[in-house]
Amino acid sequence: MDQWFNLYRASHVLEAHAIKGALEVEGIAVRLNGEGLQSLIGELPVDLLQVTLMVPVEERSRASRVIERYQKRQGNGWMCGRCGEENSASFDICWRCGHDPEEE
Ligand SMILES: [Zn+2]
Repeated sequence: MDQWFNLYRASHVLEAHAIKGALEVEGIAVRLNGEGLQSLIGELPVDLLQVTLMVPVEERSRASRVIERYQKRQGNGWMCGRCGEENSASFDICWRCGHDPEEE
């Protein structure tokens, strides 16, 4: 039985696809949850739809690092995958626990 973990809630479909691509490059399977709503609603602007990215539970920690790197590249700050602390984009490692998102 496959178990899926809700990894990340993207603020819009384009972001979801950007992250999905980054995860797939790493060989991580991705499911998008909520995307199908688009065809039902039709008229709704794309940026109003939130999409949840799901990954297999066993890929959770690897996928979290991909998200961290993605968020850092956006320059909007990033969330530590180890302790959950929010870090500003200027921090290379988590100010709270010292976790380095670039470290495998
Ligand atoms: Zn941390």
